[in-house]
Amino acid sequence: MPKTGAAPVKEKSPSKATGRSDAASAASAAQKAMAKLGLVRDIDIALHLPMRYEDETRVTRLADAREGDTVQIEGEVTACEVAYRPRRQLVVTLNDGTDVCVLRFFNFYPSQQKALAVGMHVRARGELRGGFLGWQMLHPTCKSAATDLPTALTPVYSTVAGLPQPYLRRAVLGALPHAALDETIPAGHLPPKAWPLRESLQFLHHPTPDVSLATLEDRSHPAWQRLKAEELLAQQLSQLQSRRDRDALRAPALVAKRDGLHERLLAALPFMLTNAQRRVGEEIANDLARTVPMHRLLQGDVGSGKTIVAALAACLAIDEDWQCALMAPTEILAEQHFRKLIGWLEPLLAPLGKRVAWLTGSQKKKERNEMLALIASGEAALVVGTHAVIQEQVQFQRLALAVIDEQHRFGVAQRLALRAKMASSGQEPHMLMMSATPIPRTLAMSYYADLDVSNIDELPPGRTPIVTRVVADSRRDEVVERIRAQIGQGRQVYWVCPLIEESEALDLTNATATHEALSAALHGLRGLRGPSGEPVLVGLLHSRMPVAEKKAVMALFTGGQMGVLVSTTVIEVGVDVPNASLMVIEHAERFGLSQLHQLRGRVGRGAAASACVLMYATGEGGRLGETARARLRAMAETQDGFEIARRDLEIRGPGEFLGARQSGAPLLRFADLTEDASLLQWARELAPLMLDAHPDLAQRHVARWLATRAEYLKA
Ligand code: ADP
Ligand code: MG
Repeated sequence: MPKTGAAPVKEKSPSKATGRSDAASAASAAQKAMAKLGLVRDIDIALHLPMRYEDETRVTRLADAREGDTVQIEGEVTACEVAYRPRRQLVVTLNDGTDVCVLRFFNFYPSQQKALAVGMHVRARGELRGGFLGWQMLHPTCKSAATDLPTALTPVYSTVAGLPQPYLRRAVLGALPHAALDETIPAGHLPPKAWPLRESLQFLHHPTPDVSLATLEDRSHPAWQRLKAEELLAQQLSQLQSRRDRDALRAPALVAKRDGLHERLLAALPFMLTNAQRRVGEEIANDLARTVPMHRLLQGDVGSGKTIVAALAACLAIDEDWQCALMAPTEILAEQHFRKLIGWLEPLLAPLGKRVAWLTGSQKKKERNEMLALIASGEAALVVGTHAVIQEQVQFQRLALAVIDEQHRFGVAQRLALRAKMASSGQEPHMLMMSATPIPRTLAMSYYADLDVSNIDELPPGRTPIVTRVVADSRRDEVVERIRAQIGQGRQVYWVCPLIEESEALDLTNATATHEALSAALHGLRGLRGPSGEPVLVGLLHSRMPVAEKKAVMALFTGGQMGVLVSTTVIEVGVDVPNASLMVIEHAERFGLSQLHQLRGRVGRGAAASACVLMYATGEGGRLGETARARLRAMAETQDGFEIARRDLEIRGPGEFLGARQSGAPLLRFADLTEDASLLQWARELAPLMLDAHPDLAQRHVARWLATRAEYLKA
C-alpha cells in the first residue's frame, strides 16, 4: 500500500501518475534536487541531518487523544465513499475500538481508494481535529496496519521541491553504510562527551524513541557534540592550511626608509595620529617588512581614520618603487578616497615623477586609456578605484600592496582577482582589508582564523557624541523644525530614505517625495553660510542617477552650498562632510543595525554637537516588530561599534551577520558560536597539532566536510 502523504498528487491525472516513465523522471528530478542541495557523495548525504523527528513508534488510542495532537491511530475502515459536497473528496471512517475518526482526502488515486476499502486495517498519521461531528484528519499519511511499527523516530529533513521525504530517507539509509566515517581525530584528542562519528550519525538519523527530544533540539546530545566538533575542526583546519599555504608564498619586503615618503607624509599631516592608529600602523609595517604576503583585516569604527593608515602603508610600497591599489565598493566612496589621497600624496609624489591614478566603470574611454597606460608603465604609484581596478585590461607594472575598503562588500572572487594582478612576478601582493563593521571575537576566531586582525579602538580627538532619538514619523513636522534650526546655525543635514529593493520605482518615489516636501518646507529659508546668504538648497541623490549628476550633487553638499541632502543609502559608506550635524533616517525600522550605525557615523565629525533622528513608521498593526524595536533601542543606547556588532549578531545570528560572501570560510551548519565556544577552543588547539603530526588525517577530515565547497577556501 502506497503512502498517501509521499507526494503531492494532482487531482486531474490520478491514473497517469503511476506509470513507469513518470516514476523514472521523478527519480531523476529527485537526483537533480539532491545535487542542488550538495548531496552528492555518500558522506554529504550522511551529513544531511534531520531538522526534526516524527514519532511513528507509537499508536495512540482515540479515547486518549487530544485535539491538535499529531498522532498515529490504527483501526478498521468501516466506511469509504467519494462525496461531492462541498467538493469532491474521499471520506473514510476508521474505528479503533475506542472511538471513530473521519479521514478526508481531496486529492486521491483510485489505488488509495482501494487500499482504504471497508474492512481494511489501516494506520493513519496526522493532526487530529475535533469538532461537532467527532474526530477528523485531513490528508493523513496512511499505511497498512500490518506493517511493523518503526523502532526509531522518523527523521524529517530539510528539502526542496521535487525531493520528497521518503526519497531522502531512503537515500540516507543507503548512504550511511558506505560513507567514509573512519576516525580522523587522533587518539586521545576526542572532545569530551562526544560519541564516535559513525554512532553519532546513525543515532541522529534514527534516534531511539527513549531519547530526550530536548537534547536533540538544543543539540546538547553527545552525538550532536561530535558533529559540531567535527565541523569546527574542519573549518579551523582549512583556514590554518590556507594560512600556511600563503606563508609559503613570497611577497616583496617593504621596509620604511629614513626620510622616506612615510616620514614625510606624517610630517605633512594637519593632525597627529591617535595611539590606536600608530599601533595598527606598526602592526601593518611589521607585516610588510616580511617576505610573506600580509593578509590583515583592519577594523575600525566609522570615522576612526582608517584611510590615513592605508595611505601610510602605501608610502612604504611606493618608497621601494612598487605600486599600490585601493579598491572601494562604490564610486562615491572611491572618489572620496581619491580626493583625500591626492591631497596627501600628490605633493610628495610629484617631485618623484609619480602620480595617483583613478579607475572607474563610468570613466570616458580616453581618460581610462590614459590611466591604464600610467598603471602599466609604473608611473601611477597608487591606483584608486571601484571594481574597475580588477578588470582584465588593468596591468600593473609592480603591484605590492592591495587595499580593499569595506571588504565585506566584495566577494571572494574579487579578492582573488586583485591578488592575481601580480601574477607575472611570481610573487603575491600584500593585502590590507578594511572594515567599519567590527566582527565579534568568537566570529573572528572562527570565520577569520586565517587573517590577522588589527583594531582601531579609538576615535580621533574632538569628535562629539551623537545624540540619538527614536521618533514616530507622525512627528515629522517637529523634525523639519529641527532641520530649520540646524540650517539657521549654518549646519548641514542628511536625510536618508530606505532603498526598497523589490521596487526601485517605489524607492525613488519615496526619496523624490521627501525631497519635494522638504524643498517646499524650507523654501526661501536663508542662513546657510556664505556672505550672500543664498536660499537653502535641498539636493537629491539616489542610486539610479547618472554618475555625473551624483557627483555634481555631492560636490555642492561637500562644498557647503547645499543645506540638506536627501538620499537613498548611497551615502552609507565613507562620505565625509564635517559640517553636517544632523542625520535623519526615514523608515529606520527597515534598516539593519550595522547599516544604521554606518549612516549615523556620517555626522559627529566636526566640532558641533550632532544628532541622529531615527524616524519609524508603524506597520498595519500600529506596532513595530520585535527585532526592529531591538535594533532601534540598541542604536539609542550605544555608539560603540563593537557593542553594536555584538547586538547585531545576537539579533540576526552569524549566517545573516556575515553574509555568505564576507569571509572565505564556509558557514557553519551545525555549530553555534555563542553556545559552542569551548568546542571552538578545542578545535583551535587541535588544528595546528593535526597539521603537524597527522597531515593525512587532517586532509581526510577536511575532504569529508568541505570537498564540495573547496572554491570558498582559497581567498
Ligand atoms: P574611516 O575609518 O571611517 O574610513 P576616515 O579615514 O574617513 O575614517 O577618517 C575620518 C576623518 O577623520 C577624515 O576626515 C580624516 O582625515 C580624519 N582623521 C583621521 N585621523 C585623524 C586624527 N588622528 N586626528 C584628526 N582627524 C583625523
Ligand atoms: Mg572609510
